[in-house]
Amino acid sequence: MKVDINANIMDINNAYATKNRELLEEKGILVINIMGSPGAGKTTLLERLLTIWQQHFGVAVIEGDLATSKDAERIKACGAQVVQINTDGGCHLDAKMITQVLPGFDLDQIKLVIIENVGNLVCPAGFDLGEDIRMVVLSTAEGSDKPAKYPSAILAADWVVINKLDLLDFTDFDLDNAVADIRQIKPAIRIFNTVARDKTQGIDQLAAAVSELVEAKASK
Ligand code: MG
Ligand code: ZN
Repeated sequence: MKVDINANIMDINNAYATKNRELLEEKGILVINIMGSPGAGKTTLLERLLTIWQQHFGVAVIEGDLATSKDAERIKACGAQVVQINTDGGCHLDAKMITQVLPGFDLDQIKLVIIENVGNLVCPAGFDLGEDIRMVVLSTAEGSDKPAKYPSAILAADWVVINKLDLLDFTDFDLDNAVADIRQIKPAIRIFNTVARDKTQGIDQLAAAVSELVEAKASK
């Protein structure tokens, strides 16, 4: 299983990723790269988490999308600093795009940068953006076969969020199977179950897990 990308493109990407990582390390800012299919609930999850985080520390969000600023507008309404990157059809973000937008944030006012990648379970996994944590968001509406069908996304991830647990009874999603497949691909991965829509499950736990890492990095 491999994501087939030109080696030269990867070298350039990795150089920018290193640059991003060094800058954010120096500032003591944690970075999370969120990946997942269109419709998995990435933006809704982020809206719920931001209402919790913003009470404790500033957050900047980079919204990657093929077109429109719909997600960025939703995030802005939560009070976070936000920059939209429209990839104009491009199916992933690369590290240079992140390098270009970071100066637009007031980095002294934030402790966390969230990157919402383009909705796609394939090539975003191949591009290091300089993040500390990669989080893949799956949902019960997508089918429980997706982890096994997109192992590169799982392999590249540190955390997996299984969202829309409230729809479990209305779908054929087999939670035990999905978790078993995820653990087979990457045994050490951390899995969260959430209901982002009405915040009834897992949001506080996920927010707290991130906050813990934010504080650890800020106090280094
Ligand atoms: Mg979104
Ligand atoms: Zn792509």
